[in-house]
Amino acid sequence: MTTNRVGAMRIFTATATALVLLAAQLNAVVSGPELPNPGKAPLTHEQQIQLGFQAASQVYKQMPVLPDNSPETQYIRQVGQRLAATIPQQYSWPFEFHVIPQKEINAFALPGGPMFVNVGTITAASSEAELAGVMAHEMAHVYMQHSAKQAGKEEKAALVTGILGAILGSGGTLGQLAAAGVQFGAQGIMLKYSRSDEAQADAVGAIIMYKAGYNPQALADFFKKLSAEGGSGPQFLSDHPNPGNREQAIQQEIAGWPQKKYQTTSAAFQQARAHAATLKVYTAQEIAQGAKSGQWSALNQKNGAVFKAPAGVAVSTPASATTTSGGTPAPVSLQSVLPSSHLTTQDLGPLSIAYPDNWQLMAPAQKGDDVRIAPQAGVSGNSIGYGVLLNGVKPSNAANIDQLTQELVNEMQSGGNDLKPMGQAQPITASGVQGRSLNMQSTSPFPDANGQVQKERDWLVTLPRSDGSVLYIVFIAPEAQFNQFKPTYENMLRSVQLQ
Ligand code: ZN
Repeated sequence: MTTNRVGAMRIFTATATALVLLAAQLNAVVSGPELPNPGKAPLTHEQQIQLGFQAASQVYKQMPVLPDNSPETQYIRQVGQRLAATIPQQYSWPFEFHVIPQKEINAFALPGGPMFVNVGTITAASSEAELAGVMAHEMAHVYMQHSAKQAGKEEKAALVTGILGAILGSGGTLGQLAAAGVQFGAQGIMLKYSRSDEAQADAVGAIIMYKAGYNPQALADFFKKLSAEGGSGPQFLSDHPNPGNREQAIQQEIAGWPQKKYQTTSAAFQQARAHAATLKVYTAQEIAQGAKSGQWSALNQKNGAVFKAPAGVAVSTPASATTTSGGTPAPVSLQSVLPSSHLTTQDLGPLSIAYPDNWQLMAPAQKGDDVRIAPQAGVSGNSIGYGVLLNGVKPSNAANIDQLTQELVNEMQSGGNDLKPMGQAQPITASGVQGRSLNMQSTSPFPDANGQVQKERDWLVTLPRSDGSVLYIVFIAPEAQFNQFKPTYENMLRSVQLQ
């Protein structure tokens, strides 16, 4: 009896599953395919946006980029926005579209939404739909959060896992990006996707194409063309390896979808392509060489191709790129910088630390730069008046923590500032490690409430690591207000866990 009943249940369940599948298929036939749930990534929405736009700011330094008002960029944006409009609000990203005057056929999209399309891709496409196919495929990687998921796979889930690289001198933002599968190399930027990511990006890209009114077949056509052509296509294909039977898989996927009148091409495409063919383009090799001399950063600025982070995204600028505008920042209201009593913990790789949840963690812009944890209003350009800096060094030949600390202070003072230790470094313990604590004083980047220059307290804590490197943390606030921040800073220090 029991057995029979179980058997009946099984049959019922199987039937129900088949019905659900059938319903989904019928639904696709009637109303068209829907984008899948992109699933969860170990990096938050905000972290992915920050990471991606940080990388985009790097692209503007390491590669030539056309200004936003160029006909190619204007056109790419039109197509991009049409594709992006198919994505439901709750899974949306701040997509941005830029064009690189590079000869080779390539395109890449960074986590969080910035996308770059090479001029070579525009000129190689034979229709708007083919170009849209490449862009839809790239957009699908962002939509499915492939880079962010990869970051979680390769290392421990943390936006700033790469600070391990920053601290130990092998990466900085580049290390971070590497952790997320984004690398700057001789070929420019490289994103390595797995074959299953590729299959997914094709499938999701096809849905985006369909919903935007393009024949998804064009996506497959362009890939096919690339592999047949060889020559300047290989970088794109090595970043986006063929998952196998690419064309057939797409054909199979779209076979059951309702008929639709697709747009193949447009006059705008023909115009943009014709104009693109007249542009001065650079090879990957020329771009890699120019990056070393800072050529692209200068050219981009001259051309008015300036990276702008979307509203609300903090992207730190490396010291070398900071220009003094001449003005002194306005006084900061205490209310705008006071730390919340709620702390949130972040795993930074070599350490984890808790920080006020109304402050922001800003990743280093380049190798060797500090990680900053600060209230938005406490930062002015490259200077921080309220907040915390974290970094690490491998001192040259220091034998003990006192020498390590001294060497670090010497280095900090060499930057042409008025940083002065106040007294001697004292022992301090954090995360079970004995380090040193040293109060220093300098000039705050922010004037006091009356607009007068004021002193700043810089509380330095150094913690030795077993490999001979030293992690250091600087807790910063104007001298007159330091005591209001001190309890939070002490809590932050207590929360530190070295790994
Ligand atoms: Zn891909």
